[in-house]
Amino acid sequence: MPRYFFDTNPFQMEALPEPFASVTHGQQQYPIYKARLRAIPSLLDAHGLDGSTTFIVTDENVAELYLPGIQHDLEASGRRVRYHIVPPGEKSKSFSELQKLYNAALETGIDRQTPLLALGGGVVGDLAGFAAATLLRGIPLIHLPTSLIAQVDSSIGGKTGINHKQGKNLIGSFYQPEFVCLDITTVNTLPLREWTSGLAEVVKHGLIADARFFDKIVRHSGDMLSRETTSIEEVIPRAASIKAGIVERDLHEHGVRAHLNFGHTFGHALEKECGYGTLTHGEAVFLGMRVALHLSHKLHEKQELKLALDAITDFPINADPSSVSVEALMRAMKRDKKVKQGRVHYVLLKGLGDPYVTADIDPAVIRESWYEALNSSPVSLQ
Ligand code: NAD
Ligand code: ZN
Repeated sequence: MPRYFFDTNPFQMEALPEPFASVTHGQQQYPIYKARLRAIPSLLDAHGLDGSTTFIVTDENVAELYLPGIQHDLEASGRRVRYHIVPPGEKSKSFSELQKLYNAALETGIDRQTPLLALGGGVVGDLAGFAAATLLRGIPLIHLPTSLIAQVDSSIGGKTGINHKQGKNLIGSFYQPEFVCLDITTVNTLPLREWTSGLAEVVKHGLIADARFFDKIVRHSGDMLSRETTSIEEVIPRAASIKAGIVERDLHEHGVRAHLNFGHTFGHALEKECGYGTLTHGEAVFLGMRVALHLSHKLHEKQELKLALDAITDFPINADPSSVSVEALMRAMKRDKKVKQGRVHYVLLKGLGDPYVTADIDPAVIRESWYEALNSSPVSLQ
């Protein structure tokens, strides 16, 4: 028997969504739904999360757009709604914001059954996820990702945490949600640069796991850049499913999950050398993937790698990193937190969808790849 929830018009009923993917860990499993935010009360019911209070964590930008609607629907379903709003941006992944969040949750009178809804981008998901993992030794967590990065990446896989002055994401835990629900329409309100940056992770998922998917994205790159509805309705769930498939095989990051780091060792070095905030994370990853593809093509000489390289060069990057010193980038890579025993591990491709990890590469070839990636093609400046 399908379950139904009521739209604002009670005569118009929609079937409760079926999950399009799920992540299994041990005896437990969490589903990933694609549904409008108004399905949330019914999804909470379906997951046995029918406690009287619901605690929402969001940021100022997302609150303005989506909090009133979700609050209204939850209250209409008989729940008491409490919320906590953090300032937008990376600075909120901090001890002080975490503490304010703990205070708000505890003053609200949450108990171990109170669901915490993380409504927002990756910052809200990471911060609120860590709070859910640690409040009362763990309360039910629901991810409602609203940015592209959050929908295809950060809400799936259970990594939560905050930053420390020694580095990003250094304090945290693995904590799995009860379910994840992507309302794909929310990405339409994302600032354009955030959207384009998020595409880097989508493209990455194609490159490391699904050559046909990659091909589709680059053939429809115009539609993707302009957020054409039918394209994104298909692409976002596929990209999220790829992430789910990878993390399920490696919940605690001991093996294949490293492939998700494709383009990131180079990208992190660029983010550091250009100064955080100059390049977005996604832009740095796009450039990092160019370096990784140059390198992969030099080592494996496959035409498809060259074609992939040309294809991703079309995605716009609103900064010019060509003046950054390659020597400084080489040094920065050695300081990456994923360096093991002093050796930088690179994720490369033997072919499309065929990634591997190696630490054994001639530094001269890496330098050459850096030069080519940063200088061979123009980057779009705004
Ligand atoms: P973010 O949460 O800062 O969101 C980006 C901006 O978009 C913010 O200003 C936010 O207010 C705004 N926003 C979000 N959704 C919106 C919407 N629908 N409409 C309008 N504005 C909206 O950042 P992000 O890019 O979503 O995520 C980056 C963070 O995610 C980083 O902290 C990164 O470390 C983390 N991350 C975590 C994982 C993981 O596995 N946990 C994976 C990747 C990234
Ligand atoms: Zn990333």
